[in-house]
Amino acid sequence: MSAKYVFVTGGVVSSLGKGLAAASIGCLLESRGLRVNLMKFDPYLNVDPGTMSPFQHGEVFVTDDGAETDLDLGHYERFTHAPLSRDNNLTTGRIYEQIIMKERRGDYLGKTVQVIPHVTNEIKNAMRKVAANGADVTIVEIGGTVGDIESLPFLEAIRQMRQELGRENTVFVHLTLVPWIVAAQELKTKPTQHSVKELLSIGIQADVLMCRSDRPLSREIKQKIAAFCNVEERAVIAATTVSSIYEVPLGFANEGVDELILKYLRKDAPEADLARWRELVERVRNPKDDVSIAIVGKYVEYEDSYKSLKEALTHGAIAQNLKLKITWLEAEGLESQSPEDRAYEAQLEGFDGILVPGGFGKRGIEGMLNAIRYAREKNVPYFGICLGMQTACVEFARNVCGLRDANSSEFDPAAQHRIIYKLRELLGVEEMGGTMRLGAWTCNLQPDSLASRAYRGATEISERHRHRYEFNREYEALLTGAGLRISGSTPDLTYVEIVEIPGHPYFLGCQFHPEFKSKPLEPHPLFFEFVKASHQNRLNRTADAIKQSTEAMA
Ligand code: GLN
Repeated sequence: MSAKYVFVTGGVVSSLGKGLAAASIGCLLESRGLRVNLMKFDPYLNVDPGTMSPFQHGEVFVTDDGAETDLDLGHYERFTHAPLSRDNNLTTGRIYEQIIMKERRGDYLGKTVQVIPHVTNEIKNAMRKVAANGADVTIVEIGGTVGDIESLPFLEAIRQMRQELGRENTVFVHLTLVPWIVAAQELKTKPTQHSVKELLSIGIQADVLMCRSDRPLSREIKQKIAAFCNVEERAVIAATTVSSIYEVPLGFANEGVDELILKYLRKDAPEADLARWRELVERVRNPKDDVSIAIVGKYVEYEDSYKSLKEALTHGAIAQNLKLKITWLEAEGLESQSPEDRAYEAQLEGFDGILVPGGFGKRGIEGMLNAIRYAREKNVPYFGICLGMQTACVEFARNVCGLRDANSSEFDPAAQHRIIYKLRELLGVEEMGGTMRLGAWTCNLQPDSLASRAYRGATEISERHRHRYEFNREYEALLTGAGLRISGSTPDLTYVEIVEIPGHPYFLGCQFHPEFKSKPLEPHPLFFEFVKASHQNRLNRTADAIKQSTEAMA
């Protein structure tokens, strides 16, 4: 049986949520008992997003095999169980890198190497490789917007796929915008018509149109789009803006997207089972209380830089019927003028929990240390992720152990007390390529720790990494002697993975990025417990306030 593909392209403008649409199609097909896989092609020339600024590209999502990928892969993992690896995200840069390598090796036997057929063949082979993993349907998202010069080879490749595999094995889904024009008080279909025409000019007739709009599409609008864009009326899908992204699969189900795709692919499947998604959306809509978290970081003005983090916190909150309120605090704004200056405290008051996320470079570090000190001293739940774990160790060394000069060698290579350093560099290990510890690593948990309780008594876990620096075991005895606990390490004990402070309501730092593995229906245990402790803090504060006011009245 031939592999079946759904190709997702985007038109009119970028940022319409193509990744979310692809992920939601995957979710729907999975809910009908099918195995799906998803992949994304990014038309830019960087080999991967690993070296791109978070401000440019948003978060770098990391897979188990250590690939640094586009953040859309995060949507894919959160909405489906597709097994993702470095094969599931390719950029133009990577495709060309592979081709040039082959050319230098002489693989092309003296032929002229060209975009067609060599680049397009490389793209098609990449799709076939992912499809060969045994999925019933492979969903392929093409980054960029139709009409861009740089996405042409990808579009040509999917055009050829249709030609080779036939209609019954390929579906073209095109995401467009149907804007509401205030002056006319009307939804306008012209941009969609133009976008479909643009696709047609390169030989692709869209089968399904996902029309993004901020209000429902009337029957007339759908008929008009169908007539002018050459698709069935039922294939004009209203992708109306929703308040929670978890509603998207349900919205698509209401519009019959799964039915339609299966019809086009000539595939039978059981009825959709979306009960758990419905229940999730119910909980999102009816929270019983709020929980407020301050995130103290460097890239806070661009929320996409912490996409998975925000999602993971949301999952933890929804699972407890809570509405998550995130306040992004720019770490630089929490720095103090002198050791006695505690003016920053005013900015930290009133949050139920404080979180310092991952990050690179020196900027804002002193502000993060202040936030951590505040959380530690005032018993406010604290969750430190990667950089947030490293800074928690530095803060502890400085303010509890009295090592004034404690630091990470990332921020001060000359520091006397390098609590965080580059272990492998010191070991003299020669490394090829990047020097980051990337992807899944096993971590053993200490029994009776906060970590092991969160992971429901597990003794061995696996989490994903993306960092260069590590905890320096030379300071282990000093820090643990003063009350820090190392509750997670790699099995060979080389790397410290989790630290915590016993007796504190929730003070935990992990060297890995747990946010990459949280799903809406399977919230990550560390986020679940952090949100729980934060909410408990809220309840305690409310109870204290009531007690104080009744005492005052008495
Ligand atoms: N900058 C730190 C390191 O490289 C932390 C990285 C991170 O938070 N992802 O180790």
